[in-house]
Amino acid sequence: MTVLVLGGAGYVGSHAVDMLIKKGYDVAVVDNLVTGHREAVPSTVRFYEGDVRDRAFMEKVFTIEKNIEGLMHFCAYSLVGESMQRPAMYFDNNVGGCITILEMMEQFNVKHIVFSSTAATFGVPEESPISEKTPQNPINPYGESKLIMEKMMKWQSEATDMTYVALRYFNVAGAAGDGHIGEAHKNETHLIPIILQVALGKRDQITIYGDDYKTEDGTCVRDYIDMEDLINAHIKALEYLKAGGMSDQFNLGSSHGYSNLEVLETARKVTGKEIPSQMGERRPGDPDSLVADSTKAGEILDWHVAHDLEHIIENAWKWHSSHPDGY
Ligand code: UDP
Repeated sequence: MTVLVLGGAGYVGSHAVDMLIKKGYDVAVVDNLVTGHREAVPSTVRFYEGDVRDRAFMEKVFTIEKNIEGLMHFCAYSLVGESMQRPAMYFDNNVGGCITILEMMEQFNVKHIVFSSTAATFGVPEESPISEKTPQNPINPYGESKLIMEKMMKWQSEATDMTYVALRYFNVAGAAGDGHIGEAHKNETHLIPIILQVALGKRDQITIYGDDYKTEDGTCVRDYIDMEDLINAHIKALEYLKAGGMSDQFNLGSSHGYSNLEVLETARKVTGKEIPSQMGERRPGDPDSLVADSTKAGEILDWHVAHDLEHIIENAWKWHSSHPDGY
């Protein structure tokens, strides 16, 4: 039986492929290589280059891959700032892709899907930590597109016999323990990779966006989740669905928040580099603090975080220092 990984050449998807193979799963990958990297997927893996919105292409893939036991769905645009500039592009790719995927599942009788959702579906949360009961009120098109996808899956699961798990990621970071794959975006916007690019001398300094937030040191607080912990949650979710588990949603974080300055200090410790920094203006749309309550994933999926921020940055550093120019 095969796990079809949609978006398997991207940052999170490529780590899922890597861990699924190591655990003995048969894996096939779909990716349009717009943001993904062919080099991130082993050449031995069956690879279909194309777009999930392309119905004819998807029918071909599902016809060839006859034994799909489940999908992992990682192919979506995921930058908040970009989504504010180009909402239609986000809804087209994210929601449009989801339509075809659900149609294919129905047409080819594929029963299970594990789907990457996001803490951005919560917007500026009314409470912290954020549990699955916290109301979802996205404040940008990215979060809105993912919330729509969650709802599409819910209605589809009620109408057919497919089941899904939506995993709402908090701040994913880190890389495979041996540093052979990692985070490589064309225009990097995320805190940890930018800090490590400064450590490598590829940038002069890191600008911390704002120190007047309602947090202990005034900088934003985020909940960082290690890549390996994150992929483990996907595998546990797939096994849960295969065992007959009901469709559900889970918030995935470490339940521990780190301020931007704490992240910077940890990176200085891990890399042994000075990492020059300056304080800058706030970045629009940043909530003060986003921390997950992942109790439910512990109770239902038996998922528990094994790695802390230092481990996350150690693995990210292995990747960045061995691949300073990405793939
Ligand atoms: N951040 C920063 N400088 C940067 C990039 C990010 O201070 O060059 C801050 C950002 O404002 C936020 C935190 O780091 O408070 C995490 O941002 P990131 O873009 O990594 O993830 P997000 O929380 O937006 O998903």
